[in-house]
Amino acid sequence: PIPSYFTAIFIISRLMSIMGISKHLNNKLLPPLDNITDKLSLDPSAIESASQDFGHIVKSIPKAVLQPSSIADIASLINFSYNSSIPFTIAAKGHGHSVRGQAMANDGVVVDMTSMKKHRNGTGIWVSNDGVYADVGGEQLWIDVLNATLKHGVAPVSWTDYLYLTVGGTLSNGGISGQSFRYGPQISNVYEMDVITGKAEIVTCSPNKNSELFYAALGGLGQFGIITRARIPLEPAPKRELEQLLKGLSYMPGFMFEKDVLYAEFLNRVQRGELKARSQGLWDVPHPWLNLFIPKSQIQRFNDGVFKGIVLERNITTGPVLVYPMNRKKWDDRMSAVIPDEEIFYTVGFLHSSGFDDREAFDDQNKEILKFCEEAGIGVKQYLPHFTSKDEWVHHFGSKWETFQQRKFQFDPKMILSPGQRIFNNN
Ligand code: FAD
Repeated sequence: PIPSYFTAIFIISRLMSIMGISKHLNNKLLPPLDNITDKLSLDPSAIESASQDFGHIVKSIPKAVLQPSSIADIASLINFSYNSSIPFTIAAKGHGHSVRGQAMANDGVVVDMTSMKKHRNGTGIWVSNDGVYADVGGEQLWIDVLNATLKHGVAPVSWTDYLYLTVGGTLSNGGISGQSFRYGPQISNVYEMDVITGKAEIVTCSPNKNSELFYAALGGLGQFGIITRARIPLEPAPKRELEQLLKGLSYMPGFMFEKDVLYAEFLNRVQRGELKARSQGLWDVPHPWLNLFIPKSQIQRFNDGVFKGIVLERNITTGPVLVYPMNRKKWDDRMSAVIPDEEIFYTVGFLHSSGFDDREAFDDQNKEILKFCEEAGIGVKQYLPHFTSKDEWVHHFGSKWETFQQRKFQFDPKMILSPGQRIFNNN
């Protein structure tokens, strides 16, 4: 049986379509509003899958899931919510590799972006004839972008360390890896995007066209629109890249670890870890991760207080701890992403796996690290941020908060999108 909530929506949509409201909206060719309710899935397995993520920490149950077969479907759903007397929340879910429910929509609708893949008819990843850029669907995985572009001898320059993440998902955060110090994060490597705003407008944006939306969406935590296409710059792909990486680096030779692999194998290196963890039953477990950006001037204090202090004392660290440097000048301050206010900063990622019954110890450690940083005035910023109160978000964004909020009012005034980030929605 269809729950009463959707019966109500269905009746409202009928009324709206009878009143011809959909025709006036956003002058785009959208399917009639009642069609979109027909497409909402209430299937228990779809609901279950939309209620969880890689973190296995948060569970938020949506009322329905949309498995879109076109961009118009997504726009239509947003349009429907936007014009409802009580708008409902909508979250795009890419590959669900968030760890704190960021791609969930409690009592709202989750858009399962991956279902777009089978409807793209080969247009999900398209390489320009001159090999200078690729147009990729927001739902595409980076591993697929890699494989498709390599066929043309080209590839994007900026990657994540792990490639089974969607383009829309990483562009909503940053997209960082060991190469970011040189090429910048993925959000610094985008020419243009198509974004469906919280007002259901389908907008093409770039640094020169609708630039406010362009910069808002990059690192925008899904708050301003759903990214359906991104134009990514490409370069000739190196077959092997070791010499290129070492060029210009100053290092002590004894500290160099060398392994000779193909370029694609190098980029996809984390998958080996995934397969191993899966075989040991350590993949689908809670992941109380903490990712921080630390200003260079404070890294020694962080080392003393956290690595030599908290981490050593608690002695519970499991999983990899990633540390690598970043250059502020490779980030554009107009983007929504938040980084420390220093030229060089370090990423430190505690990528913990825990059991289902000992997660609290990791949460406590994370809290203690954050408290230490706050009290010591270290000026850290969280990457893939997670906060539970508005004050914390305001503090996180700092001088960018006013702009972030203004952009929300401009592009998603009814606070429909990505409620799982808990910035403007506190359910
Ligand atoms: P989801 O978790 O599905 O969504 C994340 C957020 O983006 C949500 O708020 C969602 O609503 C929004 N969103 C999703 N799709 C869209 C869209 N098309 N348009 C607008 N908003 C959208 N990050 C790095 O930077 N570098 C790494 O090397 C890296 N490695 C990782 C390895 C693992 C194993 C995991 C679990 C995560 C890793 N991450 C890394 C973090 C990852 O980039 C983010 O969690 C990212 O959001 C995951 O992409 P996703 O497609 O799973 O997004």
